[in-house]
Amino acid sequence: MKKDIAILEIENKRDIICDVADKIWEYAEISLQEYKSCDLYCKVLEEEGFAVEKGICNIPTAFSASFGSGKPVIGILAEYDALSGLSQEGGALLEKPLEQGGSGHGCGHNLLGAGALAAAIGIKKYLEDRTKEESDSGSSKGCGTVILYGCPGEEGCASKAFMARDGEWDKLDAALTWHPADCNEVVTGSSNSCIQVQYTFHGIASHASGAPEKGRSALDAVELMNIGVQFLREHMSERARVHYAITDAGGVSPNVVQPRAQVLYMVRSNHIAEAVELQKRVGKIAEGAALMTETTFDRKFVDGLSDTVTNRTLEKVAYRNFEELGVPSHSEEELEYAGKLAMTFDGAGSVPGVGSGADTDYADKVSKMCTPQGMNDFLLPHFMGDAFEPSSTDVGDVSWNCPTMQIHVAAWPNGCPGHSWQNVACARTEIGHKAAVHAGKVLCATAIDLFENEDLLNEAKAEFIERTKEGYVCPIPADAIAEI
Ligand SMILES: [Zn+2]
Ligand SMILES: [Zn+2]
Repeated sequence: MKKDIAILEIENKRDIICDVADKIWEYAEISLQEYKSCDLYCKVLEEEGFAVEKGICNIPTAFSASFGSGKPVIGILAEYDALSGLSQEGGALLEKPLEQGGSGHGCGHNLLGAGALAAAIGIKKYLEDRTKEESDSGSSKGCGTVILYGCPGEEGCASKAFMARDGEWDKLDAALTWHPADCNEVVTGSSNSCIQVQYTFHGIASHASGAPEKGRSALDAVELMNIGVQFLREHMSERARVHYAITDAGGVSPNVVQPRAQVLYMVRSNHIAEAVELQKRVGKIAEGAALMTETTFDRKFVDGLSDTVTNRTLEKVAYRNFEELGVPSHSEEELEYAGKLAMTFDGAGSVPGVGSGADTDYADKVSKMCTPQGMNDFLLPHFMGDAFEPSSTDVGDVSWNCPTMQIHVAAWPNGCPGHSWQNVACARTEIGHKAAVHAGKVLCATAIDLFENEDLLNEAKAEFIERTKEGYVCPIPADAIAEI
């Protein structure tokens, strides 16, 4: 009953939610430039009765919007950054930029934020009703708080990791979020942590033949650093990775001793503490390379984010709610559009779901259920094995600091490639709207269970403590600022 009222509230506010999704799609602002998007969220949330704080954690386009009082505190995570170079006409069936070189919502974050807003709106309604009930019965202690977090720059700066450094996630008893995808599922498993540091070496330019003894080569330093790291690879764990790109080789003239050269290093592991340690070792190799070549260098922290810590307790709660609420259903017209869009990429052999990459039996089962070239209008079986995504998300830094749960809701056809024009096109259709609204409902219903049943949160917390006992090391240095 309580859930029905909250879900109805989301349905009643559908126009506001979808309007936000479309406006954010049109703004298509990239990482940390989401000023209009942030302003729109803050305006709508204020109108909806939330207490809004803009620019939290010294990030101008981050915000928090809270409602209610007391414990538990449930956080809902919104993202709203777009990707450069992906401008695209909405609802189209061919690649057609709206603006040459413009940006577009190739990861569906216009929907992600709107779905999170939907959840917050529904939860607010639930908390309002419960507060009224409690005050009628004479109780004055708050029955709980919801905070919608505006997390900018997911694609470019990992703002959630900065917010973790500043202690924002410690305030929460649980965090819930979602991501648009090609299927409906509760996400489980882990992902890779990742830290990027740029090393710029400074030497002395000189005629490479006339006065080689006067030159000190920054390019030599980069090359020696890379060789040092190749030797390091033998002495790191199976779960670690090191990648690099030479971002400045010091020019195109071999007869000049290169005075400046730059290399960008990316260190990964499926445990953040290990990535941080490995990053320090790479830094020592840079020092060695500078010593060998009599050059100097400076290092610039670029970004860092953690692996995700799964929480089965929360996943089970979410799955029950997903089962009860079902999945978005699509009209003939929407299915026809999705089918035609699916003809524009090669996704026929793709099997959806985070569990499909981890378990062949599960993948087999899912492949029999899925629509190879259309919408996967069903809920994937609940995957309880160990899934692992080699990619990275800054939701990881939330999950190291409070029990965190994510779902996927089908917002585009099976196998639709990430960061593609097809995603941008589909994110501006009714298919996208339905995904956002539905995600909001599942997250809202899951949160209500957590407000209603203290035991569930205690169980989620106990699991969280057990899973994070190796310890969280924030990848963001104390003095780093979120920047493009
Ligand atoms: Zn993305
Ligand atoms: Zn994304």
